[in-house]
Amino acid sequence: MAPFLSPKPGRAIVRVFNFAAGPAALPLEVLEQAREELTDWRGSGMSVMEVSHRSKAFIAVAEEAESLMRSLLAIPAGYKVLFLQGGATGQFAAIPMNLAAPGAVADYVNTGSWSKKAIGEAKRLQVKVNVAADEASSSYTTVPDAGSLKLTPGAAFVHYTSNETIGGVEFPYVPQTGGVPLVADMSSTILSRPIEVSKFGLIYAGAQKNIGPSGLCVVIVREDLLGKARPGTPSVWDYQAMAAEGSMVNTPPTFAWYICGLVLKWLKAQGGLDAVGARNRAKAELLYRTIDESGFYRNPVAKSCRSWMNVPFTLARPELDQTFLTEAKAAGLVSLEGHRSVGGMRASIYNAMPLEGVQALVGFMKDFQRRHG
Ligand SMILES: *Cc1c(COP(=O)(O)O)cnc(C)c1O
Repeated sequence: MAPFLSPKPGRAIVRVFNFAAGPAALPLEVLEQAREELTDWRGSGMSVMEVSHRSKAFIAVAEEAESLMRSLLAIPAGYKVLFLQGGATGQFAAIPMNLAAPGAVADYVNTGSWSKKAIGEAKRLQVKVNVAADEASSSYTTVPDAGSLKLTPGAAFVHYTSNETIGGVEFPYVPQTGGVPLVADMSSTILSRPIEVSKFGLIYAGAQKNIGPSGLCVVIVREDLLGKARPGTPSVWDYQAMAAEGSMVNTPPTFAWYICGLVLKWLKAQGGLDAVGARNRAKAELLYRTIDESGFYRNPVAKSCRSWMNVPFTLARPELDQTFLTEAKAAGLVSLEGHRSVGGMRASIYNAMPLEGVQALVGFMKDFQRRHG
């Protein structure tokens, strides 16, 4: 494995470069701070996991995470930021429950695996799903052209997946929906570059890709969309109820929330999303260039909509897949196997993956090709 030095002087530790899609790598500095204060958090003599979520100290953690999220994403006034449970999958159901009456029409853009799951859950909740575009004809290696969406006037909302984590397909634009609220699953792209929040009615993201530990889901929702939940919506899924209680209708995942705050602070120290976005672009360009120029590796996604965060690729000789994974692991490059539904490889290069990790990967890929290609 590839040992590298921790930023703490005098402490050499072995860390791999983890290309997992989620739960994904966290910044080393964040993990070290969490370790540092694990048993005695801010002089309390307790870990942050052991203090009341209603305590002043924890409320401060919660509020700081929210305010960092607001400043990093430049969230305008008129939006609530909620820290909910049940992951992004919970939101596949919570969105219809909060925004669409049974039998109402909602438009969904189908760009792959996660879009399909969102559509499935909406249908279970008696939403009349209009598929506004379906990229099946390209085997989900494209996004629809801007302006080609077949939208329903007066729909309850338009839902799309701005980055398909499995297919590695990312929208290079934000769909125009007229006055209909735009809902985006940003689980695997949030905080990877600046966005214009005012274009959205609702943004949601499971935390385990770019925000923190799994189990938490961040929801950014425009205030005019609150208070429309169907009768019978459980309070933990009701945006209005959660907004009124500071996301604490029940006991929140306090440790995950605390780690999110540390990650957000780390992002700010990295220079905010302009700087982080520039770094992510450079990482993605390096990896795609290596793939495209190799004549050995291949990425199937249309160039205009390749993801900055998830890069699937195949080897010219699939019988070498296992060798590639074994040798990569020995070189300290782990979790590169593609999703079980597509095979091949996938390198997820979220915010916490440093440029050096991508450089190590492309170095390994070139060497592997020399030896086996
Ligand atoms: C990971 C992921 C999900 C599911 O997240 P869970 O927290 O497991 O529910 C949904 N959408 C996208 C785009 C994802 O990447």
